[in-house]
Amino acid sequence: MNKHNLIRNLVSHIFLPLLLIFTITFNSSATNLIEKNNLPDISLSGDFLIVPLAEEICNGYDYHLMFSRGWGRVYKGASGQNPVFQFDGSCWQCKRCTEVLITEYDPLEANYVGRYALWHAGRVISNNGAVIYTNRIEFTSGSTVPYCRLRYE
Ligand SMILES: [Zn+2]
Repeated sequence: MNKHNLIRNLVSHIFLPLLLIFTITFNSSATNLIEKNNLPDISLSGDFLIVPLAEEICNGYDYHLMFSRGWGRVYKGASGQNPVFQFDGSCWQCKRCTEVLITEYDPLEANYVGRYALWHAGRVISNNGAVIYTNRIEFTSGSTVPYCRLRYE
């Protein structure tokens, strides 16, 4: 083996295979990067949607068990910051998790909800009802509030 052959052998048996490996590795990681960056957002949010939301509503139940708690008033905004009165109606509280609901109409009597608002009180409220300050006021023309079952005490 002369000097020229040695260099040629080095190139063909060591350098070229290394270059090939490097090229394949670089290309595949570049492809991975592109694929990751091209993942549609819906797939990413799908990872979070694996948690079944319906079972996370109220201490493992898929609904609040709301009992009547007098009369409620709903204001839009924060308490003490010029909140604007929105509506009043029936007040309800979940016995399991203390979530408070105020419905514009009494769905058990009127078969109609209208506007409603929810508030996680974190404590048992008075039997006379409660006031909710919120920016989130919902509406339904149905006779039930989503994820809530209503009862008279
Ligand atoms: Zn609840």
